[in-house]
Amino acid sequence: MNHLTDVADAQEYEALLQFLYMAPVGLVQLAADGTILMLNPLSAQLLLPLCPDGALTNLFDALAPVAPDLRLLCQDFAPPHGQICDATRLYLRADAAGNGPQVLSLNMLKLDPARLMAVLSDITQQDLRERQLRKTDAWLNAIMTNITDYALVGLDSRGCIDTWNDSIGRVTGFSAAAVKGQPYALFYPDGATTPAQQLERLRDADQNGWTLDEGWRRRADGSQFWGSSLISPLPGRIGEGGVEEAAYCMIIRDISDKRDISENLRQATYCDHLTGLANRRAFFEAAELELARRQQSRRPLALLMVDADHFKRINDAHGHPAGDAVLRQLAATMLRICREVDVVARIGGEEFALLLPGVDHDAALAVAERLRAEVAQPPAAEQQAIPYTVSIGVAAMDDSVAGIDALIKQADQALYAAKRHGRNQVVGWRDMERP
Ligand code: GH3
Ligand code: MG
Ligand code: MG
Repeated sequence: MNHLTDVADAQEYEALLQFLYMAPVGLVQLAADGTILMLNPLSAQLLLPLCPDGALTNLFDALAPVAPDLRLLCQDFAPPHGQICDATRLYLRADAAGNGPQVLSLNMLKLDPARLMAVLSDITQQDLRERQLRKTDAWLNAIMTNITDYALVGLDSRGCIDTWNDSIGRVTGFSAAAVKGQPYALFYPDGATTPAQQLERLRDADQNGWTLDEGWRRRADGSQFWGSSLISPLPGRIGEGGVEEAAYCMIIRDISDKRDISENLRQATYCDHLTGLANRRAFFEAAELELARRQQSRRPLALLMVDADHFKRINDAHGHPAGDAVLRQLAATMLRICREVDVVARIGGEEFALLLPGVDHDAALAVAERLRAEVAQPPAAEQQAIPYTVSIGVAAMDDSVAGIDALIKQADQALYAAKRHGRNQVVGWRDMERP
């Protein structure tokens, strides 16, 4: 070799080294038996986790745990040069140092009968993303093909609807023209969500992978159904100017059935089975809520305790089922007298409580008197088979009453006073003669 070619070789070698160092991929040159002849820093970095003893001398040995067939594959490759494998994925397990799991892509080239070149790149992120995408795809496909009560909606970065499909029409009755570019609040009843809440939910989806809410949804004809809305981020879309933009999919599901189930459960928990009124538990929960409200607004709050008179005698004379019918009738009378906001509850066998928000002691006495009178002398239309009467104790909340228990105690004392004075009467705790 003359001097000139030496220089040229040296320059070429220098350029190759430079290339190897700078290359954004791992490059390994190896002999036909896998012995590593040369490797760049990135490939050392990628391969070292595979070599617990740090000895990186043979590529086939190093990759044996993740690519056991590689040695054979290379030996069996007959042509004098060419591509042995293309983008083979190597799944590296997490190592003791907490690195990984990592995914490498391997290209294997035969340079000549004596030399091979391995090109390695770290595709962990890409692999992850692809798998997420496949999962989302499978998920969406399952939803699209198997289930008919779902509407699948594509949303842009601001939560506006940008794709229409049949499922939207089927579930919500909206046409393509009606939904395009509209905020997804289109599917919510008026006032059910605000623009700020909608954006907040998109952020929630970004951070957690999904967000779910249940409530009333609106169809194109204005009718409503109980639905759930799931929003999850989609792989970014390239928008105007080549910038990646957030995108979402929203799945609206009609879950009226599920609501019926929870409604049944609610009824079992909070309803008195005989009369359909609130039960004892519901009464106490509602009373606590009312007290909390009162603390903010200081509005009046009154309580009536109602007890059927001589009820044992009714049972004895007419039988227990007839007694039950009387209790149902009393419940109906109470409901007729009460407003929507009042809490009407059966809190014991033949004992009822009536909580009247916004009603003071005097007004509560008037309500109680009306109830007593209607039971004792029912309107003609409500004629009852068994005559009966009730006694009622009335108490009202003021700053001297500590809480709901204290209020109940006052109403109870008034009730017993009414019983003592001969039944079929109303006594207010305020007007009661107290020892
Ligand atoms: P008073 O309240 O006027 O003092 O007399 P009372 O006979 O109503 O007194 P008490 O509270 O001692 O008795 C209540 C009766 O109510 C006893 C019980 O048999 C009856 N009772 C309780 N729960 C039910 C029910 O669900 N159905 C029927 N039919 N009777 C019930
Ligand atoms: Mg009684
Ligand atoms: Mg009683």
